[in-house]
Amino acid sequence: MHIDVVTIFPELFEPFLTTSLIGRAREEGLLEIEIHDLREFTADRHRVVDDEPYGGGGGMVMIAPPWLRAAGALGEASWRILMSPQGVPLDDGKVEEIAARERLLLMCARYEGVDDRVRDLVVDEEISIGDYVLSGGEVPAMVLIEAISRQIPGVVGQARSVEQDSFRRGLLDFPQYTRPAEVEGLQVPEVLRSGDHAAIDAWRRRQALRRTMEKRPDLLETADLTDEERREVARLRACKVGAGTE
Ligand code: SAM
Repeated sequence: MHIDVVTIFPELFEPFLTTSLIGRAREEGLLEIEIHDLREFTADRHRVVDDEPYGGGGGMVMIAPPWLRAAGALGEASWRILMSPQGVPLDDGKVEEIAARERLLLMCARYEGVDDRVRDLVVDEEISIGDYVLSGGEVPAMVLIEAISRQIPGVVGQARSVEQDSFRRGLLDFPQYTRPAEVEGLQVPEVLRSGDHAAIDAWRRRQALRRTMEKRPDLLETADLTDEERREVARLRACKVGAGTE
């Protein structure tokens, strides 16, 4: 996968791109990421990227021409995404969909955002990382890059760990434990130390259901469950109703 990012703050990406899984994926050629300074696409001596809004009020607005030039120079063959709080909310399904593309152009705005004609002319999709407003699109772009990089084969060492991640089957992940076996009187569940892999798998599936039911019951409406898991959910619901009426 190749990703171009356009921003007025390229320096924000430096440690992000050279550290941990992303750094290794780039070294191994699994992921190519190029960061571009929007000011390189300006045409005036002062490299201006913003201006006052028509209609007055509010803060500055990013002018269209540098974005159009950047999209033309870098994004002809790419899926062009504008990071925006007004975009489609990012979730696991959207991450998978975007990760299937070969080339992305991520546009990180600042100030009050970009002149709306940029959206009309060169944006394929707007993506939001949540219903709150950040000061710029750089952190949202990093969120998107990190999420999609986990879907690229070889980036996460153990493919199984990605398959078990929260949301993958519509469920939250099961609880994880490591050494020591006891922490301030709390023991690791015995089954995890039993060496019985069938029992461990069954316990983990039940715990994932239980967790999802406790923390995100909405996910169960669309989760991809086996018949046995459906019966477990019904049993858990019955216990909950029972406990609530005692
Ligand atoms: N005035 C805009 C609005 O209310 O929709 C917000 C502009 S925000 C201060 C500046 C830029 O940060 C946005 O144009 C976008 O690129 C980025 N941004 C802020 N919040 C975001 C979010 N939740 N998801 C994705 N990008 C975001």
